[in-house]
Amino acid sequence: MESKNEIINSLSFGKEAKESKNSKKDIQCLKCERTFEFPKEKDVYLAHLYLTHRLVISDVQDIAILEDYLGYWIEGFKDHEFEEYCTTMLLDQLPDGTPSKNEKYYLLSDIVPQDYELRKNLRTKRLESILAQHQFEITDRNFTKECLYCRDVITGLRSDYLEHLFQKHFLQLGRPENLVFIDELIDIVQKNLETLKCLYCEKIFKDRSTLKEHMRKKGHKKINPNIQLYDKYFLVNYKTEKAKHVKTMQSQAEEKEDEKLEPNSDQEEDWSDWDEETVQLTCLFCKSKSSDFSSLKSHMMIDHGVNFDEVTKDLTFYQKIKIVNYVRRQIHILRCVICDEKFETFESLSDHMKIESHFGIGEKKEWDKAEFFFPTYEDDGVLCLLDDPNEKDEVVIIPEDNRLERNKDAESLSLESFQL
Ligand SMILES: [Zn+2]
Ligand SMILES: [Zn+2]
Ligand SMILES: [Zn+2]
Ligand SMILES: [Zn+2]
Ligand SMILES: [Zn+2]
Repeated sequence: MESKNEIINSLSFGKEAKESKNSKKDIQCLKCERTFEFPKEKDVYLAHLYLTHRLVISDVQDIAILEDYLGYWIEGFKDHEFEEYCTTMLLDQLPDGTPSKNEKYYLLSDIVPQDYELRKNLRTKRLESILAQHQFEITDRNFTKECLYCRDVITGLRSDYLEHLFQKHFLQLGRPENLVFIDELIDIVQKNLETLKCLYCEKIFKDRSTLKEHMRKKGHKKINPNIQLYDKYFLVNYKTEKAKHVKTMQSQAEEKEDEKLEPNSDQEEDWSDWDEETVQLTCLFCKSKSSDFSSLKSHMMIDHGVNFDEVTKDLTFYQKIKIVNYVRRQIHILRCVICDEKFETFESLSDHMKIESHFGIGEKKEWDKAEFFFPTYEDDGVLCLLDDPNEKDEVVIIPEDNRLERNKDAESLSLESFQL
């Protein structure tokens, strides 16, 4: 596909795109000389970016071929500062959590057109290799494996094996035409059965026959699509495009513009009429708005059963910030805050959360990530009203403007006018 290569080329920073299949997988830091062995030290690499350079890559777990992504930005940052491509923000703490005033942090995300294109191209590249793998798996006749349940050895197509599991043992792993990395998937299932773990609900049982009985009775002889581990094995997950970061949809700002025609519609916001009274606060879970935080909180309590003060009472200021940004991000991308299930419309998500009592703040491991320091909506009034139990004086948490051409202006904006 020539056209795609063209896009990749026009995206490159002058050097040829590095081949990801190099035997050596040492990846250099985006900013310094340190190198890290991939994929083993991936998390160390990301922690280093944050702790040493205060850089967070948004939705890093969704980036296809991360090595190539980093390769691109290593070139990109050779003669460019983080500011030129990143959203910047001030927090009152050092990366290790020590309080400190006005510390600057960077978010690299698909808000930047190059980054958006890059992520898209890498997804395409990965999809092509996944489809090739899939093609191999559904046509290769040299597969052979003993059944997970009986002693039969099935030889031939992988679909014959899956068919046997289904026909003879009613175990549903999915239709072969929708699956990829089938061998690995079967290995996982086998491991679950060996460790007496239910495939669907992941409960552990005391012996094989109790497990079998449970899986049969409960209808758990199938894969649970809500367990993220399995995402990898379903082709459909390689096709969806996720545009998560949200600069493009300033819903609150847009809706405000619809309400009343604003006289100065040019790009320069006039920060002088920044006024707490006029800021409409939007519910974390629906589109309802309130003019003050306490009525918003009672709305969340009455309509969604979430007592915001209660569920966040033991949390630090910055953890609350992360929660607000996490919940907003999930709702924006139409995923349940609690179980991460994806929906097509806001209404169906909302129905699901209501029926399943899934209104809430989600698990700590989901929201306690540095990327959620950065606002999902840049004009999110709720962020300004979270109180810091440890600090009596004013707290600054403002996204700086991240439109590239205006970065210099953002630098010079007076902080005083943001402080509440
Ligand atoms: Zn470094
Ligand atoms: Zn069998
Ligand atoms: Zn179960
Ligand atoms: Zn609501
Ligand atoms: Zn849910």
